[in-house]
Amino acid sequence: MKNIIITGGAGFIGSHVVREFVKNNPDTTIINLDALTYAGNLENLKDIENEPNYVFEKADITKPEELRRVFEKYNPDAVVHLAAESHVDRSITDPMAFINTNVNGTANLLNLCKEFWTLNPDHTHGRFPDEKRNNLFYHISTDEVYGSLGETGFFLETTSYDPQSPYSASKAASDHLVRAYGNTYGMPFIVSNCSNNYGPNHFPEKLIPLCISNIINEKPLPIYGDGKYTRDWLFVIDHAKAIHQIFKEAKTGETYNIGGFNEWQNIDLVKELIKQMDAKLERPEGYSEKLITFVKDRPGHDKRYAIDATKLNKDLGWKPSVTFEEGLAKTIDWYLENKEWLENVTSGNYQDYYSKQYS
Ligand code: NAD
Repeated sequence: MKNIIITGGAGFIGSHVVREFVKNNPDTTIINLDALTYAGNLENLKDIENEPNYVFEKADITKPEELRRVFEKYNPDAVVHLAAESHVDRSITDPMAFINTNVNGTANLLNLCKEFWTLNPDHTHGRFPDEKRNNLFYHISTDEVYGSLGETGFFLETTSYDPQSPYSASKAASDHLVRAYGNTYGMPFIVSNCSNNYGPNHFPEKLIPLCISNIINEKPLPIYGDGKYTRDWLFVIDHAKAIHQIFKEAKTGETYNIGGFNEWQNIDLVKELIKQMDAKLERPEGYSEKLITFVKDRPGHDKRYAIDATKLNKDLGWKPSVTFEEGLAKTIDWYLENKEWLENVTSGNYQDYYSKQYS
């Protein structure tokens, strides 16, 4: 493949995915297509911006004419689709933004792929003999499409969808559209659904970077409800490596769950963060625990998510490369070394700069 578009490449996960693809595919042009919303930041890719096989194209997936311009310029062989509105709390206050970007934006991309690619009629539900895989639409999704678990059990690739928030419903709709284009038109596709990511470049509205930022600044650490909500956490670089490996090796028509085999209740996670950060900041043990503040619960809050990533491990041999404690330590170190990044994204400085740069 000569040209691969990665959408949402300026965001948290997308920037790590772009780096992984640029470094491992020197003969392929990696096109980072991103609208640079509040969550997109080209500063995340400073270290690779001059690589000969990397280009950035500012385009909004909700605007078909902007996508068409990029498709005509590069005639892409594959699309790795991460661009999305991604924050559940924002989806509760502004669901339409999520429907526009996550549902309509995905449909716009699929329509252009359908138009630009010669789709193969020789398929069963988007599965093709390997030698006929010329193109690929790889859709990145979330485990939140599966809804909430009780105290036991895991999400499998075969678990029925039961999304509970406007965010997860919009992602579920986009997953369905991708499979429908595979089944109906013979679009070669792969979908992967991942658990919560953490790591460098995470926008500080999400739990871990918010708490890191607030522990540094001795501000309250907001925890929903009783703090017993349980999530599986995966280091973002391990997710990016999984995406690259799936892109290269998985059969079309497949779905993979990606997770860290690493469940934490929010309250325990925040206490682990406090333990590591108080030590690094040379504060007395437990010093920052006074910052923990329980806040009113989010409506429709899912109790527990837990991913079973056995299929990915069995089929492709993938497993996380770091333990949670190691990944968290790397993440904290990154935020402590990049306080300026944190200040600039929190103040909106980068967004102001890029809106002038690309206007
Ligand atoms: P993010 O919010 O950090 O980044 C999203 C990126 O998409 C940003 O760069 C933004 O500028 C871009 N974008 C938004 N709207 C756009 C539009 N209309 N046109 C073009 N670009 C647009 O999100 P993230 O956390 O990196 O998540 C990336 C993907 O991974 C999403 O599809 C999300 O659903 C999925 N996912 C995230 C997690 C997680 O824990 N963060 C877990 C599983 C799956």
